[in-house]
Amino acid sequence: MQRRRFDPDLCLKCGTVDCIMRCQYIHLELDRAKEEHDRLVRGRMSSILHECVTCGNCVEACAMDKIKDKLVDVFIAARRDLVEEGRIPPGVRDLAEVVSASAGDA
Ligand code: SF4
Ligand code: SF4
Repeated sequence: MQRRRFDPDLCLKCGTVDCIMRCQYIHLELDRAKEEHDRLVRGRMSSILHECVTCGNCVEACAMDKIKDKLVDVFIAARRDLVEEGRIPPGVRDLAEVVSASAGDA
């Protein structure tokens, strides 16, 4: 099954990166948020993947209908890609999934 991905045509031109700037779990200045999000869009490791708990709140922050409803799936797919490529330890993935489940229980 093909995994969902960030849309470079949208995200690399996004001036606000509101999905990150309005995240309650990730605290980055705008320039750094753009830099880290660009890394994700290009399939590279990003600190965002260590901190994202896949809560889904960024769905409300993103103004782009074409990507917003896919955001949680896209974050999960990006993390899985990097685990499979050996660029992120499985423990980080597992921890994120536990935290995500806890956030969902709140
Ligand atoms: S997901 Fe939405 S808010 Fe985030 S960079 Fe892409 S277009 Fe911008
Ligand atoms: S899914 Fe939640 S934790 Fe991850 S970037 Fe979006 S708002 Fe932040």
